Amino acid sequence: MKPKYNRILLKLSGESLAGDQKTGIDFDKVVEICKPIKKCVDAGVQVGIVVGGGNFWRGRSSGDMDRTRADHMGMLATAINALGVADALEQLGCVVRVQTAISMRQVAEPYIRNKAMCHLQSGKVVIFGCGTGNPFFSTDTAAALRANEIEADIMMKATMVDGVYDSDPKTNPNAKKYDVVSFHEVLNKDLAVMDSTAASLCKDNKLPVLVFSLEDPENIYRAVCGENIGTVVDA
Ligand code: UDP
Repeated sequence: MKPKYNRILLKLSGESLAGDQKTGIDFDKVVEICKPIKKCVDAGVQVGIVVGGGNFWRGRSSGDMDRTRADHMGMLATAINALGVADALEQLGCVVRVQTAISMRQVAEPYIRNKAMCHLQSGKVVIFGCGTGNPFFSTDTAAALRANEIEADIMMKATMVDGVYDSDPKTNPNAKKYDVVSFHEVLNKDLAVMDSTAASLCKDNKLPVLVFSLEDPENIYRAVCGENIGTVVDA
């Protein structure tokens, strides 16, 4: 199988890094997810990664806390995940750079778009931490933003479900899975793909998003090769 895309932005949720524990980092799981990423790099694909932070903290589920502070904590959680994914990829032989939207110069490079482009062009994997650097946003929006900035061919959202459904497959056994769905439909029907800020950013900039399941991490490589898995959300 040969890759279909030259440059991708992969969004990994925090939850996907937690394995069965559902919280924190399961490093064996992270290595499992990183193996197909290495395969993509070896096949010549340029890979940028945005990591979530939900395995540690989500600002929106922080009860009575000040939302901005809670979101700062969430962004720091994504930095922990970025370092974990970087370590796993390095152990597999990838050259990796972590860039964060909140400066933490002792542990990672600051996010600089042109520098990220140079890294990608030289075959390094770039992991973007701290989301957009701003509260009230999600890492899905950060993924859409970085995907546009690095001119990725596609944003790949690896999740716990195998695509986009017209209703919740957990509660409705007749839920129908889409092969392709428009951003218009996602936004109008409020389909559970990504938040509306992220969906609007992709829609306005004509950035296609592939939503697929990480249950089998090899799906990352299949997706990069254009295999018909998951759901494509497109203009
Ligand atoms: N976050 C933020 N701004 C961003 C991205 C993330 O404030 O641009 C915070 C927010 O609190 C969020 C948390 O970081 O809940 C973790 O990100 P997210 O919930 O998107 O992670 P995921 O669900 O993908 O693991």
